[in-house]
Amino acid sequence: MIDTHCHIDDPQYAEGLDAFLAEQRHDGVQAILVPGVDASSVKDVLDVCNQYPDYLFPALGLHPENVKDDWREQLAAIKAGVDKNLASTPHTLHPPQAHNLGGADLPREATPLRHSRLIAIGEIGLDYHWDITFKAEQQEALREQLRWAEQYGLPVMIHSRDAAEDTLKILREFPNVRGVMHCFSGSHEVAEQVVKMGYYLGIGGVITFKNCKLAEHLVGIPLERLVLETDAPYMAPVPYRGKRNESRWMWHVVERLAQIYNCSPEHVNEVTTANAKALFVIKL
Ligand SMILES: [Zn+2]
Repeated sequence: MIDTHCHIDDPQYAEGLDAFLAEQRHDGVQAILVPGVDASSVKDVLDVCNQYPDYLFPALGLHPENVKDDWREQLAAIKAGVDKNLASTPHTLHPPQAHNLGGADLPREATPLRHSRLIAIGEIGLDYHWDITFKAEQQEALREQLRWAEQYGLPVMIHSRDAAEDTLKILREFPNVRGVMHCFSGSHEVAEQVVKMGYYLGIGGVITFKNCKLAEHLVGIPLERLVLETDAPYMAPVPYRGKRNESRWMWHVVERLAQIYNCSPEHVNEVTTANAKALFVIKL
């Protein structure tokens, strides 16, 4: 399984992160993608991913709920983070064993962090649910970040809430960009349009909720267009609803999808993992 959307930089995971990630890996999570949400999360996301460069993969972007008066400054700071990450050495500067050579603790400068390369722009999009004060600015910020994605050839992680029509309209302005509609909960019509545009649907814990209509909306949508996600720390699946979410709990999502698609959980895992690897160009 690959968790394509997990806020592992959230302070709730800071304590005992090594052990937490070891548990995820042990229970079949092969990689975790970590989206940014604003300028201040640039450092948090990159720092945590650089600690586990073969396991945590970063994305950077301005979440629509964080589009306020200072959105231009936010975008400039995020863009600087994107540029710096992509310009850095793409791989290991020192193998981890080098840290142990000589037995003594090396000074910090001598053991640079390994580098986890950006795999997407995200999360970005439109959210009209609570507040539409900055509706026009949200749209402009989305366009600007789609331009980055186009320029760098990176996929996007799209957050869209109560804004499907505008989101699709803007995404269609960028026919060369692909990505995932994260935490998809739209109608069947929207699902069909998204898939037609070459995008994937991100499916998480919501699909295990009792009164969730998503199963009906997925009729006719091929498994080849789905990727798994948690949106952790939020959206924990049944039977963990309300708890701090964990990537390994995606097994409950996999099992639900296996029922819906009338196939084995192993097949769901295999196909959705291959989808995530292809979309985000992840080599494991
Ligand atoms: Zn998110």
